[in-house]
Amino acid sequence: MSKILDAFLQENLKELRDQGLYNEIDPIEGPNGPVIKIKGKDLINLSSNNYLGLATDEDLKKLAIDATNKYGVGAGAVRTINGTLDIHVALEKKLAEFKGTEAAISYQSGFNCNMAAISAVMNKKDAILSDELNHASIIDGCRLSGAKVIRVNHQDMDDLRAKAKEATESGLYEKVMYITDGVFSMDGNIANLPGVVEIAKEFDLITYVDDAHGSGVTGKGKGTVKHFGLEKEIDLQMGTLSKAIGVVGGYVAGTQALIDWLKVRSRPFLFSTALPAGDIAATMGALDKISASTELHDKLWENGNYLKEGLSKLGFDIGVSETPITPCIIGEEKLTQQFSKRLAEEGVYAKSIVFPTVAKGKGRVRNMPTAAHTKQMLDDALAIYEKVGKELGVIS
Ligand SMILES: *Cc1c(COP(=O)(O)O)cnc(C)c1O
Repeated sequence: MSKILDAFLQENLKELRDQGLYNEIDPIEGPNGPVIKIKGKDLINLSSNNYLGLATDEDLKKLAIDATNKYGVGAGAVRTINGTLDIHVALEKKLAEFKGTEAAISYQSGFNCNMAAISAVMNKKDAILSDELNHASIIDGCRLSGAKVIRVNHQDMDDLRAKAKEATESGLYEKVMYITDGVFSMDGNIANLPGVVEIAKEFDLITYVDDAHGSGVTGKGKGTVKHFGLEKEIDLQMGTLSKAIGVVGGYVAGTQALIDWLKVRSRPFLFSTALPAGDIAATMGALDKISASTELHDKLWENGNYLKEGLSKLGFDIGVSETPITPCIIGEEKLTQQFSKRLAEEGVYAKSIVFPTVAKGKGRVRNMPTAAHTKQMLDDALAIYEKVGKELGVIS
C-alpha cells in the first residue's frame, strides 16, 4: 500500500474525528418506513425522503418482483448498446406525461442526472447562474460542464436580474443558464419560478429546475413547475425517482429536441448501465398512483402541517418552510448534535444538519414527515421533542 495515501487518510480522518465532524452511519435493520429499527430499537423515523411511503408499498413491491421475473435483475448493457428495454421507453413516455412535456430521459440516479444533463447542454463558452443553496449534484454538474459558474444570492430576484444582465451583455458567453432547486431541502422553501421565468424571458436564459424534493409533494404531486403552471416555460425539468417516488433513478423532461440531444451527448446515458426493470416497474406504478389520486399527497401535507404546528406551539423555531420539510432550528453546532442524539435515545430518529451544509449558527434537526406516519407517531414524536427541548434549554 502507498505510504503517502496511508498518511493522507490517517491524518485527515483524525482531523475530522477530533472536530466531531466524522459522520458515523447507523444501518437500518429492515425497511425505511415510518418506524425504523436501529441496533434492535424501534425509532419514529423523521429522516427519510420517502414522502409518500411508496418505498415500502406492497403493490410496488409486487410490480418489481413481476418485472424482475420477466426481464431479470439487470439491464445487461448501457442504454445505447442494447440496454434499452421496452420498459425504459414506457417509463420515459410516462415521465413526459407526468411532467407535461414532449419527452423525457431517465438516468440511474438524480445525482448522475445532474452531472449528465448540465454538462451535455453547457460548455466552457457558456455561463451558469446558480442559486447559492443549490444541491451538491448541481454544483458538481456545473463544474463538470466547464462553464463559468456565477453564484446568485439565495432566491434574490434582483441579484439574478443584475447578474443575468451582466452575463448576457458582456458578450463573453454563448449561452447563459439559470439553475435552481424547485424545493430547497434544508429549509423547505419553494423556488420563485414565476420571478425566474420573467427574468429568463427578458435575457433569453436557459432555465433548469431540479425538483428532487418537489415531485410527489408540490403541484398536487406533479411538482413545482406544475405548481406554478410553467411546464411550457422551464427548459429542463429534472427530478429524482428516489424520493417521493420511492425507488431509484433520475430524469429530465423537456422538448423532444432536448431529449434527443441528451440521448447522444449525456455521458452516464452512454457509458453507465441502464436502470433494472424491477425498479422501473415499481417507478411506473408509483407514478400511476400519484396521478390517479391525491390521497397520499394530501396525507403528507396533513402530517407535515400537524408536525409544524405542534413544534411551533412548543416554541421551536421551524424557519421558513412552505412544504412538509420541517427544520427545527437549534443554532449552535454541538447543541444541535446533542439534541439529535437525545431524540434518538428517546425514540425519534431525526438527523442534525450543521455547518458546512447550512450556515454557521443555523444548525438544525430536520424532520421529514411522510404520508405513512400515523397521528399517534407524530404525537409521540412531539412529546419527545418537548421533553428533550426542555431538558436542553431550547424551549422553556
Ligand atoms: C437528492 C437530490 C438529488 C439526488 O438525487 P438521487 O436520486 O438521490 O441521486 C439531486 N438534487 C437534489 C436537489 C436532491 O435533493
